[in-house]
Amino acid sequence: MSDSTPTLPIMPVSRRKRLVGFYDLSIEELAAKLQEIGAPAFRAKQMYNWGYEHFVESYAEMKNLPAALQDQLEEHLPFRTMTMVDSKVTDDGDTYKLLYETFDGQVVETVLMLYPDRATVCVSCQVGCAVGCAFCATGLGGLTRSLSAGEIVQQTVDAARQAKRLGRNLTNLVMMGMGEPLQNYAETMKFINIIHDPRGLNFGARRITVSTSGIVPRIDALAEEPLQLNLAVSLHAPNNDLRGQLVPVNGRWPVEELLAACDRYIAKTGRRISFEYALMNGINNSDETAHELGTLLRGRLCHVNVIPFNPVEVLDFERPTVEMIDRFAAIVQSHGVPTTVRYSRGVEIDAACGQLRARYEASRGKSGVQPTI
Ligand code: SF4
Repeated sequence: MSDSTPTLPIMPVSRRKRLVGFYDLSIEELAAKLQEIGAPAFRAKQMYNWGYEHFVESYAEMKNLPAALQDQLEEHLPFRTMTMVDSKVTDDGDTYKLLYETFDGQVVETVLMLYPDRATVCVSCQVGCAVGCAFCATGLGGLTRSLSAGEIVQQTVDAARQAKRLGRNLTNLVMMGMGEPLQNYAETMKFINIIHDPRGLNFGARRITVSTSGIVPRIDALAEEPLQLNLAVSLHAPNNDLRGQLVPVNGRWPVEELLAACDRYIAKTGRRISFEYALMNGINNSDETAHELGTLLRGRLCHVNVIPFNPVEVLDFERPTVEMIDRFAAIVQSHGVPTTVRYSRGVEIDAACGQLRARYEASRGKSGVQPTI
């Protein structure tokens, strides 16, 4: 890599002040914490059962815990570290957007999407994002801080509880909300291990999708993890000229290096990669670009998700027409690359990533992305 190559630091786990809560702890860590405050370690299993099977919302609801222990826990290990401050329902009741305020006043978004055959939660892993993709509202304000594992677990458990109230089971999880999961690698993996624990939520690794804008060393690290996770790579363009304009990390890890890492990942795990492609009119949706993308990906164990761009008034990009979208997907598919069009949910209200958050922050007079509604 030349000296002039733009650099994007691989973010360390945030060293800012942390508030460790129930959802931050593995069952072993919880047992150790209990012993530290003079309580028996066996309570950890009971508490995991209440937290992850019954989805209780406080220690007071853990009926077989002594009241004195409940009080002690409240003092030493808060059950919830984020407060739900707003929620929106759209798509005729099939999409729920949940908005949280963290202990230090940050605002976080989560989306629960109900489909006939599955219920998927999209969680955030950072407040803001350092990557700064040109078409993304979240990236506009940069990174404020990474979320802790517990803050991501809480989003997941709240979505599972909400799904249960609606008579559904949470079946899938995608890390496609605010932030770059592989820039918050340690907390992302801790989060996944907590929700995957069969003594708790028992969420299957094959139902978890980690997305990345293309942090090559962390794709290699993910390939070494023992869990059978799904990987979604945000490609958005088939060449360096265009991708460099849309996804700034392309300057550090250009398309050829990214695809080499994807090939190593596929060889190591035997798992198919999803390439995400946000389709923007006049930017990356020409026939020539579609052919270039199909040619680039042909022969790989992969799938392309074409995602028609969600209109965001603060950003100057447009969604192509339905005919243009279908044409683009058909051309890519004609190269033998499995391709589907995925319309994102919740287009009619506070649609794009970061918009509900932007409106909430504006309403309380905090700076950030300006509201569009
Ligand atoms: S699209 Fe993802 S990686 Fe890019 S700026 Fe937005 S949140 Fe970050």
